[in-house]
Amino acid sequence: MGLPLSFEFFPPKTPEGAEKLRLVREQLYTVKPEFCSVTYGAGGSTQQGTFDTVSAIQAEGVAAASHFSCIGATKASVLEQLATLKSMGVKRLVALRGDLPSGYGLGGEFHYASDLVAFIRSETGSDFHIEVAAYPEVHPQAKSPDADLQAYVTKVRAGADSAITQYFYNSDAYFRFVDDAYKLGAGVPVVPGIMPITSSTQLMRFSDASGAEIPRWIRLRLQAFGDDTASIKAFGLDVVTDLCDQLRNGGVPALHFYTMNQSAATLEIVKRLQLG
Ligand code: FAD
Repeated sequence: MGLPLSFEFFPPKTPEGAEKLRLVREQLYTVKPEFCSVTYGAGGSTQQGTFDTVSAIQAEGVAAASHFSCIGATKASVLEQLATLKSMGVKRLVALRGDLPSGYGLGGEFHYASDLVAFIRSETGSDFHIEVAAYPEVHPQAKSPDADLQAYVTKVRAGADSAITQYFYNSDAYFRFVDDAYKLGAGVPVVPGIMPITSSTQLMRFSDASGAEIPRWIRLRLQAFGDDTASIKAFGLDVVTDLCDQLRNGGVPALHFYTMNQSAATLEIVKRLQLG
């Protein structure tokens, strides 16, 4: 069964990184993604790099989605950036609050992603397909799981068209989240975010920061592999392919891969799922 795919990249910092990412994209385009998205450093720190990468993807004939974080932004700066993205032919945004590095004051005219979604909708009508973030295992700063679910529903009511989740390795959390959101009237498609496992230290670091849970059995197995990267990669491919298979059997609308600017693991998973 076919399933739409999308791939996420972060903006490279050097010309060598940009060239490497161009080759990664070329490989990933062979499986015909619906779109490719590019992350955006909160506070606008990567704005140029994000827009350059978005522009390169559009020029390659693939739909690009620009992530857009609003923390610290003003309405005027958001309008200016939206106009730039529109002039580049971009039709999809991932609208986020973002996290400012510690030491930055909050400031800005937007507090939550829902404020940004409402603003983009009121200013640009249906020019953009707006994606928002969803957290099946609860956002780390949420007051409670219910408050977080309500915050998600507020983003959808503000005008989001669909959502992409934080990554997770427990499909029950995803299906429960979707059921609960639908019961509250937030019925837009929720696309699971998939993080291939290729390195145990990197995964632990990201997961501590994002609140994504690594099930104990996965953590223990990864620890037991130590520096044996071949075994970590082989195990990671099995675990993540199984997860995607469960999600597909449960009727997910699409799969969104956090590629970390690498193609090998994502392509192998897509191949094993016979989606490519
Ligand atoms: P929000 O939806 O605003 O939620 C933030 C917190 O506030 C949550 O705890 C929520 O429960 C709470 N909250 C929301 N509304 C209210 C309210 N009205 N009252 C009280 N509490 C409320 N970060 C980047 O910097 N750049 C990126 O490119 C990027 N891409 C991402 C892509 C995806 C698919 C995901 C899942 C995350 C991404 N992130 C990115 C991380 C994201 O910016 C952080 O998780 C951030 O902390 C929250 O952003 P949000 O848009 O989910 O915020």
